[in-house]
Amino acid sequence: MSAGTGVELDRLWVRFGEFVAVREASVKIGGGAFFSFLGPSGCGKTTILRTVSGFQDPSEGRVLIGNRDMAGIGPNRRPTALIFQNLALFPLMRVWENITFAMEVKGASKAERRKRADELLELIALTGQGDKFPSELSGGQRQRVAVARALCAEPDVLLLDEPLSALDLKLRQHMRTELRAIQQRVGITFIYITHDQGEALTMSDQVAVMREGVIEQVADGRTIYDDPATTFVASFVGENNCFTGRVARIAGGQALVETPCGMLPARISPTMPGELAKGDEAMVFIRPEVISVQAPKRGQQAGAGFDGVIEEEEFEGPNCHLFVRAPDDRQVKVSLVNRGHGERSAPGVKLRLSYEPTRAIALPKGKLAAD
Ligand code: ATP
Repeated sequence: MSAGTGVELDRLWVRFGEFVAVREASVKIGGGAFFSFLGPSGCGKTTILRTVSGFQDPSEGRVLIGNRDMAGIGPNRRPTALIFQNLALFPLMRVWENITFAMEVKGASKAERRKRADELLELIALTGQGDKFPSELSGGQRQRVAVARALCAEPDVLLLDEPLSALDLKLRQHMRTELRAIQQRVGITFIYITHDQGEALTMSDQVAVMREGVIEQVADGRTIYDDPATTFVASFVGENNCFTGRVARIAGGQALVETPCGMLPARISPTMPGELAKGDEAMVFIRPEVISVQAPKRGQQAGAGFDGVIEEEEFEGPNCHLFVRAPDDRQVKVSLVNRGHGERSAPGVKLRLSYEPTRAIALPKGKLAAD
């Protein structure tokens, strides 16, 4: 298996008649990286994966694998393997036969196939389970067999199309760790598509967030979460409270935005393309876990924040979420860590909500994930 084959999309467009599924997507995926495309249903993720695998031709632009232009190269001649949502293991074949099915088609001997199957079973941590039938495995184990079957063809790039979506939540979370471990063991490039941000953030070296055919941001998970480049990314990844207003002042890398909840200071996102200037319409994003609460004080309040009234409390064990009615009549979510004091926040109680401005993000007004 040759490690480190990079993939590049170079100004890629895919149109279906009048409809644009992928709009000028450019991205360089490093060799040996775990790279995810994350976005809501219909944003063009599968279409991108299909152009990389060769099942879909670009309308414009290029796909390069290992610096080689893939134009005119069919799916079976590309150094890629694809794993779908529906694994479709052959139920009447044993696990080892499933894994090495492609070798059998090519006429490899049984001894060769058995040897290769044993190597791959070790890789997916199913040593000694080759003689079982798929029905004798758990959902997660079957998923790993599907990965081993795809790796049997020794691809340079493994393409995974929401492979965990059919599994239940616990198993899905467990498989994230497993898939990441397998990827690190084989060292080849994994391109993963998902609408599940938890999956994308936990497994990937880099994530591309997509909206309506456009790649809005490419970065590591922490940057995507802490420094979103667009209002869509800020509202799609994780939870966020969004306040719309107008920039009153820019100073020291921060914007002071006049909103119906008062003047809200926030850091200007360092990843945002373009600039934010005084007088611009802007959105301030404050995540629920960034807000702290205190009893309101009389008179002028120091620091960033505003007053509100508790409407609802949602106790979750490790966290407690408060839904607070803000001065502009919107509901703001606050997530507090349960520190075990047994304190309760009753509906109707007035609170001061405050936050550290460097942990809030200001961006030019734009579309939200809910729009
Ligand atoms: P999902 O998460 O639901 O699979 P996706 O992000 O993978 O969504 P795509 O399958 O890439 O989205 O589809 C992007 C858009 O292109 C969708 O609006 C879809 O209806 C459209 N589309 C995809 N394939 C075709 C096709 N062969 N002909 C016409 N339209 C298509």
